[in-house]
Amino acid sequence: IADMDDRSVIDEPTARYYTDRHVRALLVSKFSLGDRVTGTISFTLRQPRPFSLLEQHLLRGLGDLAAVAVQRSRLYDEQVRVAEQLRQLDNMKSQFLASMSHELRTPLNAILNFTRFVGAGTLGPVNERQVDALQKVSDSSKHLLSLINDVLDIAKIEANMMTLFIESGIDIYIELEPVLASVEVLLSDKPVRMIRQIESGLPLITGDRRRIRQILLNLLSNAAKFTESGSVTLRIARKADHIRFDIADTGPGIPAHEFESIFEAFRQTETGIRKPGSTGLGLAISRQLVDAHGGQLWLESQLGVGTTFFVLLPIVARVSSAIIEPGGIESKHV
Ligand code: ADP
Repeated sequence: IADMDDRSVIDEPTARYYTDRHVRALLVSKFSLGDRVTGTISFTLRQPRPFSLLEQHLLRGLGDLAAVAVQRSRLYDEQVRVAEQLRQLDNMKSQFLASMSHELRTPLNAILNFTRFVGAGTLGPVNERQVDALQKVSDSSKHLLSLINDVLDIAKIEANMMTLFIESGIDIYIELEPVLASVEVLLSDKPVRMIRQIESGLPLITGDRRRIRQILLNLLSNAAKFTESGSVTLRIARKADHIRFDIADTGPGIPAHEFESIFEAFRQTETGIRKPGSTGLGLAISRQLVDAHGGQLWLESQLGVGTTFFVLLPIVARVSSAIIEPGGIESKHV
């Protein structure tokens, strides 16, 4: 509209609206998303005059830019909404897993206890074949229990519900005994040697005793599980104000591009997927637990040669981690 007085292009009430606001010429560009007009952008002049072609192009160009900006901001809002929904769903999933795992553990413990009673002859005589069958029930139940415990741990970690029970005076030599005993059972029917290179005079440490045992058991049982011949070596040495645990095996090795992904929950390599009883949770849990102690967990590996996992734990756990809620730490002596 080059002139507000030109009634052939603008009606009286609209023209009055503009002239009251000292607008005598008007150039408007509409912009749209798909076929829906979502906004307008305008140039106004205080004197009537036609708009040049350049001005018309310029305004259309600005309109196009504004349309893109509006579209981006809508997409962004949408993304934020979807991300929030996903976060809520993820939280619900973790809470569901945590409560389900809890419900599953109670009856499973009853199965284990009663199997033990019956197997021990407490409820009447049992023959050798029955003892053998009961042993299999017991082994499978224990396996199932450890899977459920892993699922419960990962669910707690993801729901930020994991707490550490920090205590001082932990004697590594004592904590290692049951761990090494379990690993030796795993190796008993394979030509794999368990080698211990454990420094003497290691200091007492401060951390979560049960979780530290769990980390070492996870790594050592992986080494034992994946190694068919050769050795599994546990080296422990003091490194300044840390203790370093190296768990080295002569197993199949892990391809370099999977060094990080295997620490994600449910991630396994080709070899891992083929192993019965593997779920891909052990490393994810171990890394979170090591992090929670203020330590580090990493690996070196060469295909066909073997793998070494390294755990660096501070002698006194620096408890700070995403998996521990502030104030959620039950601490005895720290
Ligand atoms: P799981 O052992 O139950 O599969 P983990 O989280 O402990 O779960 O390990 C994830 C994967 O990492 C394993 O499935 C396997 O592919 C690989 N892995 C772990 N430890 C070793 C090892 N010592 N040697 C070779 N591969 C390993």
